[in-house]
Amino acid sequence: MSVLVYINSNGEKIAKNAFEAVTYAKKIGDVTVVTNGKADDSMLSQLGKYGASKVMVDRSFEGIDEQQLTKMVATAAEKIDANTIIFSNDLIGKAVAPRLSVKMNVGLVAGASGVPEADGTIPVNVFSGKAYGYVKVNTDKKIIALLPNSIPVEETGSEAPVEEFEGNAGESRVTVKETKLPEGDIPLPEAELVVSGGRGLKGPENWGMITDLAKELGAATACSRPVSDSDWRPHHEHVGQTGVAIAPNLYIAAGISGAIQHLAGVNRSKVIVVINTDDEAPFFKAADYGVVGDAFEVLPRLTEAVKKF
Ligand code: FAD
Repeated sequence: MSVLVYINSNGEKIAKNAFEAVTYAKKIGDVTVVTNGKADDSMLSQLGKYGASKVMVDRSFEGIDEQQLTKMVATAAEKIDANTIIFSNDLIGKAVAPRLSVKMNVGLVAGASGVPEADGTIPVNVFSGKAYGYVKVNTDKKIIALLPNSIPVEETGSEAPVEEFEGNAGESRVTVKETKLPEGDIPLPEAELVVSGGRGLKGPENWGMITDLAKELGAATACSRPVSDSDWRPHHEHVGQTGVAIAPNLYIAAGISGAIQHLAGVNRSKVIVVINTDDEAPFFKAADYGVVGDAFEVLPRLTEAVKKF
């Protein structure tokens, strides 16, 4: 079975969800990766360790213009006669996979959380992660957009050959004037530890309590949606149904009520610690550890305790 995986290699390094998509694809068939831009061969060849047999790179354009990427992936799929095309269901995957589905007239399973079963059905997360659905596409070929952090990344092989190809991506209709990278060293979707704040922290001037603890733990910072909607924190920190979905080992939530839309993005965390003044806050039902208390007292004390380790 010929499987094509699109990965974004426009950053300084390849993100964990790209290795995850390749690991996933390897469980289905023989994997070819397609990407674009200037990433050097030594970086791309590492994808072989996760199961790619070959990496095809279109060096004629950079960036993440979804129209261009759709054309490039379609060209690559035709070239290798791909039976299955895999994306990570991140922001790029969500933009490109549906376009490709229409362009190729091929069924799409978005938000897959496991490998296809013997009869071709694919598990997907539904109802904000509260249940699994099982989806089967009726077309011979299929496109799967894998929910990030669904399966463990596995190293199974060695370096893969990298070859240049012409993806017929055409001209971009978009001019990029400025690129602003998120602050912080740890990308939220990949973070093992996350410290997060909600409206209970009262205002952006109090975020030092979150960032201090995150710094001591080596954690990424996150927030609830009203916090980013109010511009207390940048939008890329918003986790939940309409934000980033994360699955860290530890998620500390301070002053967050635990609405279902928030839980949808964090309920795959291994350990959840909730700090809230209201002992009836819904978040306590999802918590492994709960502190009924004022975040303004608990967070600084927690930070001091972590410093002692
Ligand atoms: P609040 O609900 O105001 O809760 C604040 C909490 O802080 C309360 O539980 C309170 O007891 C506690 N508190 C107050 N003071 C303190 C203190 N001093 N110390 C400790 N605790 C304190 N939300 C998301 O987060 N992510 C999403 O992706 C998302 N998507 C949505 C999509 C849709 C379609 C809709 C309708 C809503 C969505 N929401 C989302 C919003 C969601 O429903 C909630 O409104 C939101 O999560 C609440 O944010 P919050 O917990 O920070 O604020």
